[in-house]
Amino acid sequence: MTGKITIKEIFESIQGEGPYVGEKQLFVRTTKCNLNCKYCDTDFLCDENSKTYNFDEFFEVLKSSNAQTVSFTGGEPLLEADFLSEFFKRYKNRLNKKIYLETNGVGVENLKKVIDYVDIISMDIKLKSATGMEFSLITFDDFLNVAKEKEVFAKVVFDENISNSEITEAATLAKKYAILLVLQPKMPMSNKLNLDEVFEKFYSKYKNIRLIPQVHKFLNVR
Ligand code: SF4
Repeated sequence: MTGKITIKEIFESIQGEGPYVGEKQLFVRTTKCNLNCKYCDTDFLCDENSKTYNFDEFFEVLKSSNAQTVSFTGGEPLLEADFLSEFFKRYKNRLNKKIYLETNGVGVENLKKVIDYVDIISMDIKLKSATGMEFSLITFDDFLNVAKEKEVFAKVVFDENISNSEITEAATLAKKYAILLVLQPKMPMSNKLNLDEVFEKFYSKYKNIRLIPQVHKFLNVR
């Protein structure tokens, strides 16, 4: 651990996904990911606008925003868990903002390093039908078993290829931890996707679900 972090970008915007949709947040986008989802449209790679910060510099830039919540997103922010755990240890109290973690749910050991400092966790349940990658449900189960200490919800990005077994598995996992399950259709939506049908299939398995699309795409904000 070098005591430095390279960040793709830091910007204020409106949360566009999940139950905190519409809230002003300060977004910190990290520069790496451990997955390669086929629907990924996030530009998280380093470019000339990326910056490297030490602990003090990072604190100053986060503190200068009047947003009450800092959303760590990516890429996969937990790949920076070593830096972040030390940063939070030194500065979380002085920062006086909620820490919101947007994570792909693959990396429970890194979650353990920062869990004490995180307030809200948005964890993906990655489906093979949408991502093109296959994960054992145990990956996300292990993650939730640590994340459950904090406010946590799960998000499923899906398209017209979602299978009945994927619906059952995701609903069963959310039910096990009694957490909100956010259903987020992949954008742009195919006209082959029957949203009512998918929703009702989830609802027949688990009632604490919400269908929430990415609203920043409608609002034309970042
Ligand atoms: S986890 Fe997120 S950032 Fe990483 S490849 Fe998948 S969609 Fe892109």
